[in-house]
Formats: sequence, structure tokens, C-alpha cells
Amino acid sequence: QQKTVENINDLVVQYLSSLEHGERLALYSDVAIETSLRMDIWNVCCSTPHIHKVLLNLIGNAVEAVQENGVVRISTENCHFNHPMRDTNDQAQGDEYVKLVVADTGPGIDDKDIDHIFNPFYSTKVMGKSGTGLGLSVVWNIVQDHGGWIEVKDNAPGAMFEIYLPATRDQI
Ligand code: ADP
Ligand code: MG
Repeated sequence: QQKTVENINDLVVQYLSSLEHGERLALYSDVAIETSLRMDIWNVCCSTPHIHKVLLNLIGNAVEAVQENGVVRISTENCHFNHPMRDTNDQAQGDEYVKLVVADTGPGIDDKDIDHIFNPFYSTKVMGKSGTGLGLSVVWNIVQDHGGWIEVKDNAPGAMFEIYLPATRDQI
């Protein structure tokens, strides 16, 4: 898939507005989706449809987890990180990444599931109804394809998925 220089905040806003204007809104109507998007976020080189697919899967899972009166929070941040597999030379601060976080106030993920959730066809949902177990494996592959990685954390209560994508100095 073709990659272009993009502002991740714009991709988040585009995706959320596509929900508002589409029929999928009904599914999400009891859940508050909040955003906290970093101003002056660095650019990323990415495939826009793939990043939209990441948002679809992560936000979809979060909304399914929280049920009514829950909150899903989407945030973005600039960050530095020394990738353990990469030679960062003398850059003391580390490489530049854009972090995309989707956090929810649902029940969180059981310890017994946590090592399996990124595997294809692993699902704790009713198969065929809402769950295919493919969402997070698709997300994993897309993030890998962008040279990034994904982490899952406890949001106490709830789950939190953090995606790190390499930033680019290229301009849009
Ligand atoms: P599916 O949604 O079809 O079950 P996914 O690959 O999207 O498949 O997710 C795999 C499993 O990870 C889910 O069945 C669920 O157990 C767990 N999971 C993913 N996101 C969340 C979340 N936000 N809160 C709780 N559990 C989650
Ligand atoms: Mg899913």
C-alpha cells in the first residue's frame, strides 16, 4: 500500500467524523469518545486507509468493551525512544516517534488472554456475532509494516493500546 506524509491528528479527526456521518454511529451512541490530540504533532509516513483500519479496530474493540456510560479516549503525543534493535548513534534523546493511544474504561483484559490477543482468530467474543478475532492481528501487521510497534497496558480500569510510529521530518 502506498504511503504518504500525514498528520495523525487529521487522520483521527477524519475517522471520527466518518463515524458521525455514517450509519455506524448507532453502535457508538452510548459511548463518549474523547480526544486529546497533541498540537504540533510530528508527521508520519503512512498508508491512510491502513491507519483508518487501525482506528476502526481499536476504537471498535474499546466501544464493545465499555458498553454504556463508558469513555473511550484517543490521544496523540510526540515521543523519543531508543529502539533496542536499532543503532541510534549518538542521538542521546533517541529516535522520534508519534504515539497514538486508544484507552477505555471497560473491564480490561484478563491475564489469561493477554499473551494471545494479537494472534489471528483469538477472540473472547461470541464468534460470528461481533468477534472474528482478526482485528488485533490486522492492527499488529499494519503497525509492523509502518516500522512501528504496539503495546497493551492496564488502564485501571480498562485497556489501553499504545501504537508507536516512526516520525518523519518530511513535510506534507
Ligand atoms: P475480536 O474483537 O473479533 O474478538 P480482536 O483481535 O479485535 O478480535 O480482539 C481480540 C480479543 O482481545 C478480544 O476478543 C478481547 O478479548 C480482547 N480485547 C481487545 N480489545 C479489548 C479492549 N479494549 N478491552 C477488553 N478486551 C479487549
Ligand atoms: Mg475486534
